[in-house]
Amino acid sequence: MPKLADYEPILGSQVIEELFLLAERLQGKTIQNINSTSVGGGVAEILNRMIPLLHELGVDARWDLIKGGEAFFNVTKRMHNALHGAEVDLSPSEIEIFLSTNQENAGMINWSGDIVFIHDPQPIALVEKRKEIGRNWVWRCHIDFSSPHPPVWEFLRGFIEQYDAAVFSAPAFARQLPIRQALISPSIDPLSEKNRELSQKEILSVFEKLKIDPEMPTLTQISRFDYLKDPFGVINAYKQVKRYIDCQLILAGGGAVDDPEGNLVYQQVLEKAGNDPNIHVLLLPPSSDLEINALQRGSTVILQKSLREGFGLTIAEALWKKKPVVASAVGGIPLQITHKYSGILTYTVDGTAFWLRQLLQSPEFAQKLGDNGYQHIHQNFLISRHIKDYLLLFISLYHPGEEVVYL
Ligand code: UDP
Repeated sequence: MPKLADYEPILGSQVIEELFLLAERLQGKTIQNINSTSVGGGVAEILNRMIPLLHELGVDARWDLIKGGEAFFNVTKRMHNALHGAEVDLSPSEIEIFLSTNQENAGMINWSGDIVFIHDPQPIALVEKRKEIGRNWVWRCHIDFSSPHPPVWEFLRGFIEQYDAAVFSAPAFARQLPIRQALISPSIDPLSEKNRELSQKEILSVFEKLKIDPEMPTLTQISRFDYLKDPFGVINAYKQVKRYIDCQLILAGGGAVDDPEGNLVYQQVLEKAGNDPNIHVLLLPPSSDLEINALQRGSTVILQKSLREGFGLTIAEALWKKKPVVASAVGGIPLQITHKYSGILTYTVDGTAFWLRQLLQSPEFAQKLGDNGYQHIHQNFLISRHIKDYLLLFISLYHPGEEVVYL
């Protein structure tokens, strides 16, 4: 695991010194993170990297998982889809499953946090415990909240309002709420196995292991198999491109404990891919960071054709690798990509196919996008900035009502 000193060549020593200064203000405080999965998806990705670095800074950060059965995760996935705009209504029995699972977990968790930091909707109702144990409660929303289905939003709002503060990833997601709101975008860790530099030999050996031709132009989307990542739209766009340019498509991803739809979507993607030998649908096991790193680095263009997206860590990962990215203009993606400057933003399958062809035919332009994207991620979306924002938020919780906190 890299140490903070290892980041100096990338971040500079001042950035790290500043983190230590801020962390000092949280001595003696415990930050208790709670979410619903330790692997798969962006939240787990971030916590796995952030907790050890917070420890090194002297911050007592902990991470607990809530447990739930199949029925619970079916409900939370439907809730997730509704919050992303699908017209899904929760039945009284689904609400009962949701609440009782939260209550059971509330009884099992060792409530050690001075700040309880709850991630996403699955454990949101744990805040009911606040009446008994007090403390500071923060809700961290990682999802695209731009147009939630109103009844499900109203249901969640009843819980959100019990928190001291809510954190959203992008300005478009902020809501009218009576509590404090912070906008903090996610980040990537440049030294993680998923993002560290790789040698050409390491990249080639992954392509060889996965039986993918490293010479052919390669379009890649890395995502959980989820309708909202639009893998079908990706295949349609690839097919349009393929009529003009010989290329291959990689759709790679695994599942997450809290995503029960993954297997079904995977099967449907396999079916849609049919027997095209140039479509590689890869089901990746949880510990595939090296493989993902190599697939991203070995690709010609990276795609993220999401229909909704909280932030889209895969975009930051690809841009960090100086790759040209074609992505949908949804959720947190426009924070990372300025159209035709640090990547390409699209709205449709046709638009995606058009730009894929342009980039495959104009490697210099494609490289320029990747280079600009790298600079943007370097300046805005590395883990140091993210940790700093969190530390400031935690410190501010101990200064309620103060507009300026003097450190
Ligand atoms: N990821 C992974 N394995 C997979 C699919 C995705 O490790 O099979 C990672 C991906 O590299 C990224 C994160 O999970 O770091 C996905 O985050 P993103 O914000 O793109 O989407 P989310 O899954 O949170 O909706």
